[in-house]
Amino acid sequence: MTIVYSSSYDLHNMEFHVENKKRTDAIMETLRILDLKIVEPKSASPDDILRVHSQSHLDYVKGFAERGGGYLDYDTYMTSESYNVALLAAGGAIMASKVVLEDGGWAYSVARPPGHHATRDRAMGFCIFNNMAIAIENLRKRGSDHFLIVDFDVHYGNGTADIFYDDPNVMYISIHQDPKTLYPGTGFIDEMGAGEGMGYTMNIPMPPGSNSQDYIWILSRILEPVKDEFKPSMVFLEAGFDAHKDDPLANIKVDEEFYTWIGSYFKNERVVAVLEGGYNLEALANSNLKFVKSLMGLESPIEDEVKASNPVKDVFARIKDKFSEYFRI
Ligand SMILES: [Zn+2]
Repeated sequence: MTIVYSSSYDLHNMEFHVENKKRTDAIMETLRILDLKIVEPKSASPDDILRVHSQSHLDYVKGFAERGGGYLDYDTYMTSESYNVALLAAGGAIMASKVVLEDGGWAYSVARPPGHHATRDRAMGFCIFNNMAIAIENLRKRGSDHFLIVDFDVHYGNGTADIFYDDPNVMYISIHQDPKTLYPGTGFIDEMGAGEGMGYTMNIPMPPGSNSQDYIWILSRILEPVKDEFKPSMVFLEAGFDAHKDDPLANIKVDEEFYTWIGSYFKNERVVAVLEGGYNLEALANSNLKFVKSLMGLESPIEDEVKASNPVKDVFARIKDKFSEYFRI
């Protein structure tokens, strides 16, 4: 039960941007009521970054910060401090994964900037370095492998998917709002991996308006067979909270019940969670509290029989059809 966090994340900040320091401040203020061990991360080294990203990407963002920062693309900003903060955020994911490797249980890196949109060569979608991919490659250096990633941010984690797209030892499952209706516009069912990694990327595009019941219905039918057959040594959660009904950036209608369910679902596994999105501060704080309490076993989902809408049942049928040769879904 370890939270990895540094108040230095606040140095990456732009007041009127939705991805600002108030996010982690709100989460930590709420989590402090729980009996949690909070540890400070160490910065990732350039070598850690280069296990995932290209030298040109590293040099570019470093230089960009040295020149004072600004916008890397339409929505991704950097300040003069952001390169150092991004190294610290990647280091937070590395530290969380080290804690779980050594002590078991779970650890959660409450870090900014987020990471799951960052590709090998490019910062995008508020993300500079891919924090979780960097932690995964660091664990591999230590001899650990075979990981399941579950990304429940409302946006498709195109960067993480892309980095492991041809890799059969990293299974990436993302549940997100249908990319026909939301950034980044990719993450369809037929994007299933490539080469040796074919079948090890799974996208669950959810219709706008889907609620907690829809999410729980479909994930419980998919995660169980995949976990049984893939047998991950560790689970990585890209924990975004922007599928919440009050979030300003998307149109999914999940509430705290889903975050309680997902925390409970993984509470007995070795879990490394990293913070991704979530932009309504109150919803973000409440959802994080439910998520962490359920990982601790202090909270359980309401055990109603869950029902899914017909469009969600249709998404499930299409996934089942496509993946039948890889998993007994
Ligand atoms: Zn997001």
